[in-house]
Amino acid sequence: MKKLFAFCICLLSLATASLAQNGSGTQSNEPALPYIPSLDVTAMDKSIDPCVDLYHYSCGGWQKKNPIPPDQTSWSVYGKLYEDNLTFLRGILEQAGSATQRDASTQKIGDFYASCMDESTADKRGIAAIQPQLDAIARLDSVRDMAPLVARLSLPFGRTILFAAGSTQDPDNSEQEIADLDQGGLGLPDRDYYTKDDAKTKETRERYLQHVQKIFELLGDTPQAAKQNAETIMRIETALAKASWTRVERRDPYKLKNKMKLADLSQLAPNFDWAAYYRELRYPPIDILNVDAPAFYKQINTELTGEPLANWKTYLRFHVADQYSPFLSANFVTEDFEFHRKYLHGAKEMQPRWRRCVQFTDYNLGEALGQVYVSRVFSPELKASTLDMVTRIEAAMGERIRGLDWMSPETKQQALVKLAGIRNKIGYPDKWRDYSSVKIAHDDFAGNIQRAGEFELHRQINKIGQPVDHGEWDISPPTVDAYYNGQMNDINFPAGVLQPPLYDAKMDAAPNYGDTGGTIGHELTHGFDDEGSQFDAKGNLKNWWTKDDREKFDTRTKCVADQYSKYVMVDDIHINGQLTLGENVADLGGEILALMAWKDATKDKNLQPVDGLTPEQRFFVGFAQWDCANMRDEDLRVRAVTDPHSSAQYRINGVVVNMPEFSRAFSCKAGQPMVNPPDKVCKVW
Ligand SMILES: [Zn+2]
Repeated sequence: MKKLFAFCICLLSLATASLAQNGSGTQSNEPALPYIPSLDVTAMDKSIDPCVDLYHYSCGGWQKKNPIPPDQTSWSVYGKLYEDNLTFLRGILEQAGSATQRDASTQKIGDFYASCMDESTADKRGIAAIQPQLDAIARLDSVRDMAPLVARLSLPFGRTILFAAGSTQDPDNSEQEIADLDQGGLGLPDRDYYTKDDAKTKETRERYLQHVQKIFELLGDTPQAAKQNAETIMRIETALAKASWTRVERRDPYKLKNKMKLADLSQLAPNFDWAAYYRELRYPPIDILNVDAPAFYKQINTELTGEPLANWKTYLRFHVADQYSPFLSANFVTEDFEFHRKYLHGAKEMQPRWRRCVQFTDYNLGEALGQVYVSRVFSPELKASTLDMVTRIEAAMGERIRGLDWMSPETKQQALVKLAGIRNKIGYPDKWRDYSSVKIAHDDFAGNIQRAGEFELHRQINKIGQPVDHGEWDISPPTVDAYYNGQMNDINFPAGVLQPPLYDAKMDAAPNYGDTGGTIGHELTHGFDDEGSQFDAKGNLKNWWTKDDREKFDTRTKCVADQYSKYVMVDDIHINGQLTLGENVADLGGEILALMAWKDATKDKNLQPVDGLTPEQRFFVGFAQWDCANMRDEDLRVRAVTDPHSSAQYRINGVVVNMPEFSRAFSCKAGQPMVNPPDKVCKVW
């Protein structure tokens, strides 16, 4: 399941993929992709003054040339790279499906993909694909017996029903994995959807009720029964939502740290048979576990006696059907699309089936698919050159820390220890995940999803009591994203994010540092943002700051929170400066480090203007072009509630207003929008 404290770069919540043009291992019969340089002058709109709006100056042309495709919820440089990669991965998967001589891992990815593409079998089976789960729910004859059933009803991708359960690193001893319980159980994207009373949120709840009713009708309920059942779902979920932490509260790691013994959990929520739950899932012995959201479990306890058995059966039936909908017959797939992707996020059309199937394969067997991907697109030279960039950015961070004028030598020393403790993980894992115990059948898509989900759940559970595996990755090699994990104290850059146009071996250093250098600096800075800075070099939740330095730091991060809170995301919805604080601090810190590292890497070179842009200008345009995007209003509304990142234009303009080097690079004048007077410049790292 989840890692408690991981922070990513991405604009989109994507998992998957990109393709290199420069991968030395590329085979000649692979589909070729268009090469896009890391600085594309045709993506710019030079009619805009960069001193007024760097983002649209750098991305205006891209935005005109790249309308959002009807099957997408937004469109961006990352999103386009991701889609190009899906095409590439499709080629790998089709080959894997038809090859005559197959090793175990080729069989798995090939058959998984083929089973997904077999739409007619899914249509013929209909709800029969989840009938065993539905039958088990029907047989439940007391609320007290729910625990082992909840344990058995595992959901796709290793998720659990009613609440989120698995393992986590002990916040006080990062070398130890312990059992973990977190809030969950909702059908809408966030607890705020159940608690807010503005017109749009109310409309969303009404639309959700219709969706839930439709799912019950597809399960065979009469419209009247389905409507009543939908109200039951809304009532139970609302009670759970009100007892859940908000996303801003969840950014406080001390709020989430609630270690207890199993006996304490049984006192907190005595109406749920925890011993039976853990026995059914074959958990290792539990000495201590962490309960991220105690109030949520107290509420579950109340609800267990407050709602009759029939309503719990209704709740479980809905969540099994809703979560399995994308993998069932066309009527379920369509309803899932209509509510989630179309209504909530604004997509106009469903993605073609092959694209969904490539993504499902990556989500479930990512390190098997990733092995083939890496062998074709991530050469040792590419690994060496990107690792060199990482090393340079880390050196810049060390220099930056040593030079800070507001921090005491004592805290600086600790910050440097933390920096030295960061593990760099580049491209792919040293040891590949072993999927040999997952049975993948070429004619059983829903079954494959279920078995792969159970594999993932048990992979998490089996970590408990074991030493932490520092070589583990949370995302697959083809993923176009990167992350920092505070408890691991590591930065992770999959092969997918180290490809053109993000990292372009053919291009000069300036845009590469502005783009990928900034991403590396972003992840590194997460170790030192308002949240990550609460973990020490070993990844333990332990203060290493003097009181005075922490107060100065908090004043500096408040400057960033106040700055971003002024920006409007969509309609009259502002960016939530507290929710996005860590990402905004990382965006700013990352670009400052990238600029320092680039200057150092090119200090002996006589850099010349290219395409009418000075080297400094190329750095900043390269930076802006990582995030060229077009967004749908619906999608922006969901992101305003759920996404810890700011919207695209402010991830660029919000950064450069705090960098005097930017206004110097474009000879901007005092008083122009992109020029902050010195007393307004936010400076954290
Ligand atoms: Zn981030």
